[in-house]
Amino acid sequence: MRGTVLNAGSILIVGGGASGAILAAHLLRFGDARLRVTILERRSVVGAGIAYSTDEPDHLLNTRASGMSAWPDDPDHFWRWLQADDRGAGVDCRDPFCFVPRRVYRAYLSDVLAPFLSADGTGRLRIVEGECVDLAQMRGGVAVELADGRTELAGVVVLATGHAEPEATDATGIVGPWEDSRAAPLPADAPVAILGTGLSMVDNVARLRRTGHHGPITALSRRGLLPLVHARASTPFRLDAADIPFGTSVAYLTRWLRGAARWHGGNGGDWRDLMDAVRPHTQAIWQSMSIDSRARFLRHARTFWEIHRHRMAPQAAEGIAQSLSDGQLRVLAGRVVDKRQEGDTIHLALRLRGGEASALAVRRVIDCTGILRDPLSGRNHLMARLVEAGEARLDPLRIGIETDAFGALVDRRGAASRRLLAVGPVTRALFWEVTAIPDIRLQCAALARRLIQEAGRTG
Ligand SMILES: Cc1cc2nc3c(=O)[nH]c(=O)nc-3n(C[C@H](O)[C@H](O)[C@H](O)COP(=O)(O)OP(=O)(O)OC[C@H]3O[C@@H](n4cnc5c(N)ncnc54)[C@H](O)[C@@H]3O)c2cc1C
Repeated sequence: MRGTVLNAGSILIVGGGASGAILAAHLLRFGDARLRVTILERRSVVGAGIAYSTDEPDHLLNTRASGMSAWPDDPDHFWRWLQADDRGAGVDCRDPFCFVPRRVYRAYLSDVLAPFLSADGTGRLRIVEGECVDLAQMRGGVAVELADGRTELAGVVVLATGHAEPEATDATGIVGPWEDSRAAPLPADAPVAILGTGLSMVDNVARLRRTGHHGPITALSRRGLLPLVHARASTPFRLDAADIPFGTSVAYLTRWLRGAARWHGGNGGDWRDLMDAVRPHTQAIWQSMSIDSRARFLRHARTFWEIHRHRMAPQAAEGIAQSLSDGQLRVLAGRVVDKRQEGDTIHLALRLRGGEASALAVRRVIDCTGILRDPLSGRNHLMARLVEAGEARLDPLRIGIETDAFGALVDRRGAASRRLLAVGPVTRALFWEVTAIPDIRLQCAALARRLIQEAGRTG
């Protein structure tokens, strides 16, 4: 490998979830014919990742079709794709404001990439199935080491490794939010506990009910708050940067948001319009906060932010309302203070909000406590390796790795890399809201422009 010189026109993306797929599409559409892209993905499918791997018909996008196009300058692209032939067969989507099953989005991303692939593997896009375990920068490029001993070479590597997935089912009978269907079968009348009351809880309740589960389901989170619901239609308005109180305390920002929502409501508007209007400024608001303020936000305000910002599709909300009213689902505010397994039963000791002690005996516990995890936790061994080698460093709040504004990894000494970059939720330490497609596609477009420019200079 010594002496190999690769130019920036050979780009390898680690992770073929939505971020990796959208970045590849931008690079290949706008880069010249010499630009080559490899996606290295440990799953057998590209464009799926955590969010779009599900085949459940009731697991819906929580973003309208109009927000899911891969191209920020063509927001109806996904919706038009849905209308063509029978792609949207069986899907009720009469306008770009509908919410469709997430599996449909996986098919869309696969179609977006299709023009760049060729059956004999000689297209501008290569897909390699495997797990990246290490990256070594060398003169002229990066050596990408795979778990099975293979090595790939690239001029530039972009990490699109997404969320820190929890380790597979542990011995205590607690399963992760996306693996319950793979766990041992559950008797249909068995009691189930779900830790967390956010969107993954909503998914799990929908799946349990669709598959005929009729045992009681208890969902528990610190505050017992459920995600709020999208309006059937939205009436967006624009907020000017001058209207936003950048750099203020979390308490002030919260008061300002409440006041603005009241004012907008008083003028016949809906608070959701305000949340959508704040969205283009969210990253700048986050960046204007001190580390202390960000920590305070994560501790005290994040749950409130998330239930307003990451909302349920109306159909999903109807399912939850039905399961609450027929009594199968109950939602508690509190926390688990102890757990013990006895045969098939898991005993949970709870401390409810207000101090009361309570107990639950269930056959399964599904951990839906969220996707905001320490980047070194769970299955993400590559990140641990990069941090250990000093090629990356964690941000002080341990919600992601440090990057510069374009996604270049910042190393142990504080220098931004020219060859190692990142995109999507891995970069949330700097951007906070870079979780959903409307933000990810903008970030992919900007990074692709920069990488194409760079390739033009070195090619
Ligand atoms: C359940 C769920 C539902 C969501 N629904 C929506 C929605 O409706 N609308 C919306 O806009 N957003 C939604 N989101 C937000 C979601 O974060 C983004 O839409 C997007 O899917 C993020 O994609 P990603 O590729 O960055 O991450 P991920 O989906 O986590 O994908 C990362 C990929 O990298 C691979 N990978 C990781 N490490 C390695 C390695 N070392 N080697 C090889 N491969 C590796 C993983 O296998 C995975 O496929 C949802 C998120 C979740 C969790």
